[in-house]
Amino acid sequence: MQIPLIDLTAQYSNLEVKILAAIKKVLRSGQYINGTEVKQLEENIKEVTGSKYAVPVANGTDALVLALDACGIGQGDEVITSPYTFFATAEAIARVGAKPVFVDVKVDTFNISPELIEEKITKNTKAIIPVHLFGQPAEMDAIIELGKKHRLKIIEDACQALGASYKGNPVGSIGDIGCFSFFPTKNLGCYGDGGVVVTNNKEIAEKIRLLAAHGSKVKYFNEIVGYNSRLDEIQAAILNVKISHLFDWNEKRRILASIYDRELLKTNVTTPKTVEGVKHVYHLYVVTCSNVNEIKQHLEQKGISTGVYYPSPLHLQRAFLYLGYKVGYLPVSEKLATHTLALPLFPELDNNQQNYVIERLKEVCTI
Ligand SMILES: *Cc1c(COP(=O)(O)O)cnc(C)c1O
Repeated sequence: MQIPLIDLTAQYSNLEVKILAAIKKVLRSGQYINGTEVKQLEENIKEVTGSKYAVPVANGTDALVLALDACGIGQGDEVITSPYTFFATAEAIARVGAKPVFVDVKVDTFNISPELIEEKITKNTKAIIPVHLFGQPAEMDAIIELGKKHRLKIIEDACQALGASYKGNPVGSIGDIGCFSFFPTKNLGCYGDGGVVVTNNKEIAEKIRLLAAHGSKVKYFNEIVGYNSRLDEIQAAILNVKISHLFDWNEKRRILASIYDRELLKTNVTTPKTVEGVKHVYHLYVVTCSNVNEIKQHLEQKGISTGVYYPSPLHLQRAFLYLGYKVGYLPVSEKLATHTLALPLFPELDNNQQNYVIERLKEVCTI
């Protein structure tokens, strides 16, 4: 049996007829940018995230850059975030000219540790970017409180967590701004690049819309220097077809995760912890273990793909050497980088396939 970490073709096969029809409709309309599909997607995203405003953009990285820029964050400013995330989170901070300040994560949830944030706040700190890693919301109550106390913007990197919620509130609309990605492997993915920014703040929404369109409201008249960051009609049409399935797909992910949780109890791998009161959407199912390489190799031999997220914490990336972090500064993230493994999980994974993964895993992990 061959089991991929994530199978994008299985989902496409199920939706092929609808997706081809949606693409054809766009192609025949002659409207390829800023048309009815993008407008419809805005409405759909507002509903899923419970936000007042949604601005589709070119990708999740741009969503973060535009969010920071719209808050006036740049040169001389500091932004606190997690070192245990995809590179783009901190890249966006550096891209606007600000300094990423890394705060370590919790070993069992992989999310930023709110208790360690305050000591890193300086007079230059302007924002915190919590990441809802692997689909699990960060500890937003404590983070929002810190934001209020120190007058910081809270920008949620919810790229891996569309549809997740924290104490009943959908992620993206808890902080000041929420950023999402439609990269193909995300829980809601298009067939190229895409992203969206959500907020309940009218001024911020307007600023992001302006920035994303060359700083222009009226064609050929530009108020500020902006970006060209749009989602195109074809990708929006694809997303409008897929988004009606998001709720079921996320539910399926949770069911598969609970089966792994139960079946891996008597093994030496530690299953991911879900915090009380959150609705996790398991973008990835990541276990922690001491013999990652042994497990990875064994599963590979049996035709099962796994993934390492992320093999290098951001504070030790060459691109951020200039920030002056050394090995040992953020021990939890450093440890996780060499002790975690993502197991196959996608909504179309069937029981046979999952059982096969579990049985092969037990061959090296039973205690
Ligand atoms: C995917 C991702 C991004 C970037 O999104 P792109 O659409 O690839 O630009 C940012 N942050 C996190 C946590 C992500 O997973």
